Amino acid sequence: MLTKDEAICIRALDYSETSQIVTFFTRATGKISAIAKGSKRPRSAFDGTIEVFSHGKIVFSVPTKEKLATLTEFESAYGGSSFGRPADDLFALNCSFFAAELINLLTNEYDPHPGLFDSFLQFLQGANEHRASSTEHRDTLSLLILFQLALLKEIGLQPILNACANCNTQYAIRNTQYETYFSSSANGLICRDCQDSFPDKIRLTKTAANALSDLKLLAESGKNTLNEIETVLIHHFTELLGHRPKMAKYILKT
Ligand SMILES: [Zn+2]
Repeated sequence: MLTKDEAICIRALDYSETSQIVTFFTRATGKISAIAKGSKRPRSAFDGTIEVFSHGKIVFSVPTKEKLATLTEFESAYGGSSFGRPADDLFALNCSFFAAELINLLTNEYDPHPGLFDSFLQFLQGANEHRASSTEHRDTLSLLILFQLALLKEIGLQPILNACANCNTQYAIRNTQYETYFSSSANGLICRDCQDSFPDKIRLTKTAANALSDLKLLAESGKNTLNEIETVLIHHFTELLGHRPKMAKYILKT
């Protein structure tokens, strides 16, 4: 049976001199891994070699017993170009690889998340636009943070950011005279009264806590606040996965 879908490549490995093993995040089917036979030949059904962040329409057949699907068609949405290349802004490229890594690690094959697909596409388009217009990392970082929060929501792990995740007190988070913390084990913000019960907590600055509890503020936050929030998110993903994502080290060193 052949399946058609809209897809973004999140991983591409050489399989032989002419073939690749590719992982796509598709809109209607979720993550799939497929063999693309002959994709590296000059004339193939795939618009040339498939690269990470290639976006377009794919056709694939799902075998009944084996895990690997067979890619039969790939038609690029942009006539062969793709997001994230050429690498004239390494930070935007690294953020894009990080987003792809998180999708690969946190979604299962054949488990569709159309909302997450749209968020991922929006993130790649945004990172690409900022890359073309400015060398400012701030815009890219705020897009990455919004994408990571959308990812957590889509996979059913939305952190509680509008109240204390433990006692549900709202004023304690909003009122700037109180200390606010983030706890991975509590999955959200923690108030001063509850923080003793959460040894894994990280204390937040007022601006970071406010930006996390109000995403409109997040979009306007300065680079230091965004770096602080990204540090917390990377810590959180590390806790969720049981290991630090490989791309994390390229996001915070700048
Ligand atoms: Zn509390």
